Amino acid sequence: MAKIPRLMPQDPRMFRAEVVRAERVSPSLHRVTVTGPDLADFTWLGFDHWFRLFLRLPHQDRLRLPEFSGSRWWQPYLAIPEAERPHCANYTVADFRPGAAEMDIDFVVHRGPDGEIEGGAAVWACRARAGDELAVLDQGLLFDLPEDATEVIIAADETGLPATTNILRSLPRHTVGRLIQEVPVPGDRRDLDAPPGMTVTWVVRDDDTVPGTAALGELRRHARADAAGYAFVVGESTLATEGRRHLHRAGLPKGRITFSGFWRHEGERAA
Ligand SMILES: Cc1cc2nc3c(=O)[nH]c(=O)nc-3n(C[C@H](O)[C@H](O)[C@H](O)COP(=O)(O)OP(=O)(O)OC[C@H]3O[C@@H](n4cnc5c(N)ncnc54)[C@H](O)[C@@H]3O)c2cc1C
Repeated sequence: MAKIPRLMPQDPRMFRAEVVRAERVSPSLHRVTVTGPDLADFTWLGFDHWFRLFLRLPHQDRLRLPEFSGSRWWQPYLAIPEAERPHCANYTVADFRPGAAEMDIDFVVHRGPDGEIEGGAAVWACRARAGDELAVLDQGLLFDLPEDATEVIIAADETGLPATTNILRSLPRHTVGRLIQEVPVPGDRRDLDAPPGMTVTWVVRDDDTVPGTAALGELRRHARADAAGYAFVVGESTLATEGRRHLHRAGLPKGRITFSGFWRHEGERAA
């Protein structure tokens, strides 16, 4: 396998930007396109390149950013009084067009028990208008494919769809393996530019199951994993942790599994 560019940047940079346009690209995903002079210097690495997104609070006119130097952003962030502190959430570069310095960000439109859209970032995205301010703190890649990997197994819920879309686009064309991608409804499936040797399994969940459960069930049907392979499991935290546990039991060393709980379900779980 080819070497992947770099993981966490040593001196992560903050990019200020503003909204150009926003549109619903599928029933559960809202795309916000952003640009700004800073983004002319952004180097997109493909794969699951992610960032911390800073947004102004609903009552604010301007985005207030932490005083920021190098990788030290957390303490300065916390030092801002809570009522003024920008909302911060983690997102993936869905696409980047260097010529126009435009970045797409795909937000899952997640809803609370009453059916209303919830979450500072999801609500912001669905209301985003041209000119709205934001900032992006570059975080690099989690995807960490060993050069000698024989196969690649990927499992994700919809929060991982921007990442899996670009991982498949970025992987060397000779890569073999499998993507298990869960989405809330059939209309969220999309065309993927996958290497021919990567099998794509879409899993559409039932309305009343916790996100990630269906992808985990499908992953558990994958009884054996090549010990020289590599796996990437992201999404709701149980999918990430139980997916890793399963793959390790199936034969993959822990050091060859990247797993990340992208978010945590807070309600009741079905047995
Ligand atoms: C490296 C990385 C990359 C990510 N990339 C993306 C991405 O490209 N697109 C994307 O949509 N998400 C992505 N996520 C997940 C995203 O950061 C979380 O879903 C985040 O909680 C959303 O922030 P929020 O402000 O909307 O909601 P929060 O204020 O964090 O949460 C509010 C409530 O919503 C619930 N919640 C949060 N997310 C979901 C969800 N997806 N479904 C159902 N309930 C939810 C929480 O449990 C909480 O109860 C990524 C996470 C990581 C770590």
